[in-house]
Amino acid sequence: MSTRIPHYMIVGGGITGLSAAFYLKKRLESEGAPFRISVVEKSPSFGGKIHTLEKEGFVIEKGPDSFLARKRPIIDLAYDLGLEHELTGTNPKAKKTFIVRQGKLHPMPPGLVLGIPTQMTPFMKTGLISPLGKLRAALDLVLPKREVTNDESLGHFLERRLGKEVLERIVEPLLAGIYAGDTFKLSLKSTFPQFRTMEQKHRSLILGMMASRKNVAEETAHLPSAVRNSVFVTFKKGLQTLVSGLVAALDSTDLRTGVGVASVRQSGQQAEVVFEDGRSEMVDGVILTSPVHQAAKMLAHFPAASELNKIDYISVANVIMAFDRKDIPFELDASGFLVPRSEGSTITACTLTSAKWLHTAPDGKVLLRCYIGRSGEQEWPALSDAQLISKARHDLRSLLGLTAEPLFTEVTRLMHSMPQYPVGHLEQIARFREELEAAMPQVLVTGAGFHGVGLPDCIRQGKEAAWQLADRVSA
Ligand code: FAD
Repeated sequence: MSTRIPHYMIVGGGITGLSAAFYLKKRLESEGAPFRISVVEKSPSFGGKIHTLEKEGFVIEKGPDSFLARKRPIIDLAYDLGLEHELTGTNPKAKKTFIVRQGKLHPMPPGLVLGIPTQMTPFMKTGLISPLGKLRAALDLVLPKREVTNDESLGHFLERRLGKEVLERIVEPLLAGIYAGDTFKLSLKSTFPQFRTMEQKHRSLILGMMASRKNVAEETAHLPSAVRNSVFVTFKKGLQTLVSGLVAALDSTDLRTGVGVASVRQSGQQAEVVFEDGRSEMVDGVILTSPVHQAAKMLAHFPAASELNKIDYISVANVIMAFDRKDIPFELDASGFLVPRSEGSTITACTLTSAKWLHTAPDGKVLLRCYIGRSGEQEWPALSDAQLISKARHDLRSLLGLTAEPLFTEVTRLMHSMPQYPVGHLEQIARFREELEAAMPQVLVTGAGFHGVGLPDCIRQGKEAAWQLADRVSA
């Protein structure tokens, strides 16, 4: 009988990789057998896209800033790490969101869920959509459902159900915040499968959304009482709290930063991991959690890995600005505004961060975050930080009348950071995974490029991969 201790390696120390390591450790500890886990991260620190900066009393998120409270995996993880008391919700006094139409800010009509109207009276009154556009949207109530159930693009689906105006002026700018994508290239089944289910079940998307709508209290009943009733939630000291909590919980684990993996191969019953410095290590199981184009490089010798290169990534930038409250010429009673493509602005959205999240700025100060870049608008990387700041300030001047000099600015360039699931993505991924399992059973690949980009989805995927690997190695 072999006495060798099984060695597991997680490649990538973003939220997917750290969650995979955490849940793998938890499971193996519960089984009582000895094991060894290593997490190898190419950059100098853990967290991947998560990056909280504390500066002059501000809590600044340079990557993700919050998550949907109704999604359980991240709340469960917060409880698992004993961090539930660190959660905080949005400011109830800043609930409004605006959408720009012909250079003016219009309030988003109440009752929109993911841009789909669930209350017809406010929708019929909005200045964002023309009377004809409203009639076209209302046709959704009577149009038949699509009988063919194969995948289609999100844009095609929404245009088919609600018409071009609702798609372009409301839904697309709203969803752009999540994918920065072209809705006509994104897979419906991989991004919003619930829309398709609603059409199949209720025929109409509006009726389906109305029927499935739960109140916020119901959806957030699992949260600590202090943050119940908030649709979005984050941590009082920023999302870095979650990363630090995971790293602390992985104390007995071999955590390595500044170590890049060059390739991974099956070798007998084990996997050989070759590092970028030429060293290599044999392990009993590996989970790759890097962005998929990096995973494709690590598996370049495996023909099916080229499938992964079909998943395009969009680059986005953020321009974050701090101001004195006295220099702000508008009410801070909204969470921000969205800018449709047709407006021709540089920024795609702006969050009034310190109005939405009260913990992010000291008294008397204001924090704003502008987003730049989406599918089809990928010229921005050629601009310097100073040019990005100048363009963002130009847009804020014309949309909000904000002319004051910021106290400071922070620019983040997130190159190739937003995965775009193409039509047929789920089927392609399923085929790729089948082939990978047959050729390299000791290797799993997961993360934001596969089944969901949101932090809760990444945590779920990390946990699922951890359990799968434990099953395979112990089989
Ligand atoms: P990553 O965070 O990309 O981690 C992968 C890690 O792998 C990285 O640390 C990388 O350095 C490492 N790596 C790469 N190559 C190698 C290699 N060869 N060897 C070793 N390591 C390697 N989601 C939300 O839920 N809420 C939000 O508010 C939100 N906002 C967002 C805003 C922006 C600007 C962006 C870009 C994304 C946002 N998201 C948000 C999405 C979410 O942040 C990401 O999908 C998620 O953080 C991805 O986690 P991950 O671990 O899968 O990948």
